[in-house]
Amino acid sequence: MKGIIMCCVAMLPAFEIAGCTQRNSLPPVTINSPAPMPAPQYPAQAAKPAPTGPLFTTPPTIAIEPSNPWKPEAEVRDWEYIVIHHTASSSGSVESIHELHSKKKDKSGNSWLGIGYHFVIGNGNGMPDGEIESTFRWREQMHGAHAGNNAYNQKGIGICLVGNFENEPPTDAQMAAVKKLVGVLKAEYNISSQNVQGHRDVKATACPGKYFPMSEVASAVDLPVLGSTSPPEPTRKPEIELAQE
Ligand SMILES: [Zn+2]
Repeated sequence: MKGIIMCCVAMLPAFEIAGCTQRNSLPPVTINSPAPMPAPQYPAQAAKPAPTGPLFTTPPTIAIEPSNPWKPEAEVRDWEYIVIHHTASSSGSVESIHELHSKKKDKSGNSWLGIGYHFVIGNGNGMPDGEIESTFRWREQMHGAHAGNNAYNQKGIGICLVGNFENEPPTDAQMAAVKKLVGVLKAEYNISSQNVQGHRDVKATACPGKYFPMSEVASAVDLPVLGSTSPPEPTRKPEIELAQE
């Protein structure tokens, strides 16, 4: 029996070969044997790791960083408002306002620590037109001394533009600067447009003047595209640096 089975098994391939190729009995053997060989799976697997490595390391993006050039190093205060002021004078700077405010005293008779605002925006007289300068109150994330209203001094970012906007509107450069600053601060600290107010909205005063376009500034939005926020800085800075040298 064993012998018969062995014979049958041995004969099967022979029949298959013969069945497929009745007339060319020799060539088919060479066709069948390479068929089971196809093993192109190895190159396919090996090819994967090579291109992925370099592709992911190349595109580093620096797009987010410059969106807020005024990030303070100190721990951020819980800001809720932005309060806009004018100096009610034709000229001024952080230094000149600091000197004035240092002479002021609070209700208890204590001298102010110095300039009461967190930011000042120049008009070309005393400070470059449209230049935004932060003060020690912003850098150290201190309360302001500008609103004449405790809640707004504690939780309001005080921005003062040099100029008297009871007589004339801010310069174009000041408008561009204040809108950018307000837009960035609103986005960064989740301050709504309605919480961007003129000084006159929180205290009986004419500040920041009847020619100040309050609603336009309050609704300012930080431009999301890097390309549109970065050009003004390189053009402005070199001029100042060169002038100082
Ligand atoms: Zn004011």
